[in-house]
Amino acid sequence: MGRLDNKVAVITGGASGIGEASVRLFAREGAKLVLADLQDERGRRLAEELGSQVIFQHTDVSKEADVQEAIDLALSMFGRLDCMFNNAGIPGPGGPIENLAVEGWDNAMAVLVRSAYLGMKHAAPIMKRQGSGSIVSTASVAGMQSGFAGHAYSAAKAAVINLTRSVATELGESGVRVNCICPGGVATPIFGRAVGLDEEEAQRSAGTMLMALANIQPLQRAGVPDDIANAALWLASDESSFVNGHALVVDGGITCG
Ligand code: NAD
Repeated sequence: MGRLDNKVAVITGGASGIGEASVRLFAREGAKLVLADLQDERGRRLAEELGSQVIFQHTDVSKEADVQEAIDLALSMFGRLDCMFNNAGIPGPGGPIENLAVEGWDNAMAVLVRSAYLGMKHAAPIMKRQGSGSIVSTASVAGMQSGFAGHAYSAAKAAVINLTRSVATELGESGVRVNCICPGGVATPIFGRAVGLDEEEAQRSAGTMLMALANIQPLQRAGVPDDIANAALWLASDESSFVNGHALVVDGGITCG
């Protein structure tokens, strides 16, 4: 018996890294799901590999119509929505504040914060009607402490954490839980994307991050996508039914020092 049997999810950013691991884990645990991502080739390939319980939908999470379509697809194909996992993300611009361009700032806010708001906005009415649901977003330890990422990314992830708390207090009475996960360094292609590598190189670079991240971790190993997927699975499942408005830190202890 799977931990997500009879549940339906939408996972954004499901074509790579943490999202891909979550798609695989949720499917293995019995969920039916829509994998929503910008990357058609990787998204389609993964959905085909996992069979009819996973549908790929081309989605730009910064666009309201796209997010609504992905959620509508889950509803029309599978009949309900139990988990909205707002996970897609980008590294955001780096550099000193005086060089931070308005375009880079706005793009980070659109992809990292507007996306979570849109996922919550369009999942909420369906989950309220059902009287149950779990909304999970991927925030970051960078939203809690300085020094982990660029200014725009850090501000965006802090916004996701407080948006989570704010919406959790509203939706709780409808039986809908809203939580987020704050990963520390997880070896994914996002670090390669941050330095402008193409998709293939970025995917390869995740392997090299394993060693680099291990050196700065109290546990002496890097986080891997499954570490975060396991947290998402727990928050999506009924095992966490009394957890609401929580920012779950999954960072190997790196924020303790
Ligand atoms: P990743 O680059 O492997 O995956 C991100 C996915 O999001 C990709 O498949 C990409 O195509 C997709 N995406 C990007 N922009 C999109 C858009 N506009 N619309 C739809 N899809 C889009 O990186 P990851 O590390 O797996 O990142 C997943 C989440 O985890 C992100 O929100 C990221 O900020 C967060 N996070 C990562 C780390 C880490 O160390 N890897 C730490 C903290 C938080």
